Amino acid sequence: MSTPSKPLPFTAAQIREIAKTYPTPFHIYDERGIRENARRLNRAFSWAPGFQEFFAVKATPNPHLLKICKEEGFGGDCSSLAELVMCERVGITGEKIMFTSNNTTATEYAKAKELGAILNLDDISHISFIYENVGLPGLVCFRYNPGPLREGNVIIGKPEEAKYGFTREQLFEGYRLLKKKGVKRFGLHTMVASNERNAEFFVETARMLFDLARELAEKADVRLEFVNLGGGIGIPYRPEQEPVNLERIGEGVREVYDELIRPAGLDPLKIFMENGRMVTGPYGFLITTALHHKSIYKEYVGVDACMSNLMRPGMYGAYHHITVLGKENAPHTRTYDVVGSLCENNDKFAIDRPLPQIDRGDLVVIHDTGAHGWAMGFQYNGKLRSAELLLREDGTVKLIRRAETLDDYFATLDFTSV
Ligand SMILES: *Cc1c(COP(=O)(O)O)cnc(C)c1O
Repeated sequence: MSTPSKPLPFTAAQIREIAKTYPTPFHIYDERGIRENARRLNRAFSWAPGFQEFFAVKATPNPHLLKICKEEGFGGDCSSLAELVMCERVGITGEKIMFTSNNTTATEYAKAKELGAILNLDDISHISFIYENVGLPGLVCFRYNPGPLREGNVIIGKPEEAKYGFTREQLFEGYRLLKKKGVKRFGLHTMVASNERNAEFFVETARMLFDLARELAEKADVRLEFVNLGGGIGIPYRPEQEPVNLERIGEGVREVYDELIRPAGLDPLKIFMENGRMVTGPYGFLITTALHHKSIYKEYVGVDACMSNLMRPGMYGAYHHITVLGKENAPHTRTYDVVGSLCENNDKFAIDRPLPQIDRGDLVVIHDTGAHGWAMGFQYNGKLRSAELLLREDGTVKLIRRAETLDDYFATLDFTSV
């Protein structure tokens, strides 16, 4: 029986060499993979007038990765002050920023407006909130929550249980209010999927928004400038899964555009997306060293990374593939729980996972950590956040975030006043 495997953009020898300079654990990102995938997404929508992907900064908030996104033509999707400032500092400004926040402060709206970002409002009450606190910009977008009209998917849950967005009725009322206050340019957004690998799901989302665009034009005399299909394109975490067919999403959306938008005289209507996971997820790897083997009621391998480097397995029971470097082709003769060192029993990267025998000092690769990996980290149990490295197209490695030190951990404390 062949053991399932996932490809790596580096060799075992390369990582051993890198680990001499940068001790494990660290995340390493594959620049070539990120760029090639970004170009594939842009190509899939090259038919669409003014197609724009806004990389969801929260997935991997690192300026070096944002710069790569920017060079590939992406904007940034932000939801907080820090994310806005990070975009500003790499030169992503103006309408290259989609500000899709919720429960937003006036300070955040003020910064977004100062940068000329597209404000994507999460609630109808925010129209007057922005009007009174910072003034309305010329272009405003609303986030639509279809509620029971749409099923959603497993990770994001049912739309009617989600705290986000406007109801259908509120959209009509909202655009009417905007017009009354002199706003002239309008957008419409939704986000109903997360880690969705079925291309047709996104085609259906486009259909839903195109239908609404027509209804808004007919009944409310609102001519939308763009629809934003949200993020949520999934990635194949398991080796037997296929990547999402981006070409099919692009083609499917084009068919619906030709069916609904052109005949209604609404062309050009720009199409936006705001993916995070699919942009960087498959191109990040958490490298960690095996520390201990423990044999009690089960077999454990303890590594020097923990849940603070990657929350997804502990938090959602998410699968992340594991490769033991130098043993890529070794038979999976053992069954391990691969664990970190937190005093929390859900600090496990894998449970009952068939793997080759792991010895102390082996370098272990945890795959697909390029999105919602480092970003979700924390310092519980006094764990320090790891370094991030970039494997560049020329094969060299660049430190794009240093590892935290104890001084970082203690920086906000004043021991002299104890
Ligand atoms: C998290 C998020 C995204 C990105 O989601 P991915 O699953 O990483 O593509 C996009 N838009 C909004 C509003 C989000 O909250």
